[in-house]
Amino acid sequence: MFEKVKVDEKEYKRVPKDELFRVVKEIFVALNVPEEDAEIVADNLVMADLRGVESHGVQRLKRYVDGIKAGGVKVNPNIRVVKESPVYALIDGDEALGQVAAYRAMRLAIEKAKKNGIGVVGVRNSNHYGIAGYYAYKIAKEGLVGISMTTSRPLVAHTGAMEKFVGTNPIALGAPVEGQEEPFLLDMATSVVPSGKIEVYRRKNKPVPGEWAISTETGEIIHDPNEILSPKGAILPLGGLGELSGGHKGYGLAVLVDILSGVLMGATWSRHVGGTSDKHSDVGHFFMAIDPGAFGDADEFKRNMRKMIDELKNAKKHPRFERIWVHGEKGHLTAETRLKAGIPIYRKVYDEINAIAKELGVTPLS
Ligand code: NDP
Repeated sequence: MFEKVKVDEKEYKRVPKDELFRVVKEIFVALNVPEEDAEIVADNLVMADLRGVESHGVQRLKRYVDGIKAGGVKVNPNIRVVKESPVYALIDGDEALGQVAAYRAMRLAIEKAKKNGIGVVGVRNSNHYGIAGYYAYKIAKEGLVGISMTTSRPLVAHTGAMEKFVGTNPIALGAPVEGQEEPFLLDMATSVVPSGKIEVYRRKNKPVPGEWAISTETGEIIHDPNEILSPKGAILPLGGLGELSGGHKGYGLAVLVDILSGVLMGATWSRHVGGTSDKHSDVGHFFMAIDPGAFGDADEFKRNMRKMIDELKNAKKHPRFERIWVHGEKGHLTAETRLKAGIPIYRKVYDEINAIAKELGVTPLS
C-alpha cells in the first residue's frame, strides 16, 4: 500500500472518498451552486487529495466558500463562447468557479480534437481552477494528449526581482499509455513549490525545508511559512534563486503560462491576477487536446508511450534512489491506496470543513 506522502495517523483522520465528495458537494449546493457544477468542483478537490496533492485538495475549501460569500465568484455565471472555429474557442467565464468554466472549456477541447484532430480552448474571466492535472487527466482518459495551464495570483519573485510578482502558474500534460488504465500525468507548479505546500507547513506550525522562498526585504532565503505567505516573503521560481540552478528557466515557464493562458486569451497576467476572494480576479486558462491519430497511428502512439516509459524506468539507477518513477505513477498508486484506506484529512482541516458544513446546514463528515 503506497502513499506519496507519509501520513502521521494521529494528525490525520481518514475519510472515505465518497463521504468527502458528498460533504464538499453539499456545501457548494448550500451556497446555491447548481448540483452539476458542485459535483465538478468536489471531484476536482477530492481528486487532489486522493492523489496525494494535499496543497490543492479540500484544505482550500474555505477559500472557495469565502470567495463565493464575498461575491468574487459567481455561482450562476453566464459562461459563454465568445469566439469559435472547428479547432479553437475562447470562453468568457463570467467570474465562475474556475473548475466550472475550465471543465466546460476542457469538454469543448475534447470535442474539437475528436472531430478535427486538435482542440485549443482558452478561458478568460475565470477563477482558481484547482489542480491543472485534473483536466489533462480527463483529456488523456479520452485517448487524447491533454495540456492544461492556468495563470494564478502573484506569489513568486522572478529571477532578479524581490517582490511577489508572477504566479505559481502550473502546467500539466496527460497522455494515454498502452497496457495501463491510468495515463502518464505530469502536473507541476512552475515555482519551486506551490503556495498550498507552504500553507500545509503553516497549518502544522513547521518551518519549510529547502530554499523555497526569499524575504522581500533582504532577499535572503527564509523558512517561516507565515513570513513567506505574508507580503514580507515570495516563493522562488523552479530552479531557485538566481541563474546557477536554472531559476531563470522556471521564471520563463511561468511567463510561458502567462502568455498562453493570460495575454493570448484576453485575461490578465502575473501581478494583475486577483485572489479567489477578490472581485475580478480574471484568471485565464489554456487547454489543448490532441488526437494522436491525427499525426500517425493512435495505437502506435500508445505503444511508444509504453516503450518510452519502460526505458525511462529501466535506466541505470542512482544508489540514493530506491527506484525510478515517471510522472503520475506515485499519484495513481496513492489513489489506489486511498480508495481502500480512506483519504487522510489533516484534523484542523477536518474540523474546518465540519464547521462550514454546520453553518450551512449540511450533515458534517462522519
Ligand atoms: P509535485 O512537485 O508534487 O509533482 C510534480 C510532478 O512530478 C507530478 O506530475 C508528480 O507525479 C511528478 N513526480 C513526483 N516525484 C517524481 C519522481 N521522483 N519522478 C518523476 N516524477 C515525479 O507538484 P507541485 O507541488 O509542483 O504541484 C502540486 C499541484 O499544485 C499540481 O497539481 C498543480 O497543478 C497545482 N497548482 C495549481 C495552481 C493553481 O493556481 N491552480 C498553482 C500551482 C500549482 P505524481 O502525481 O505521480 O506524484
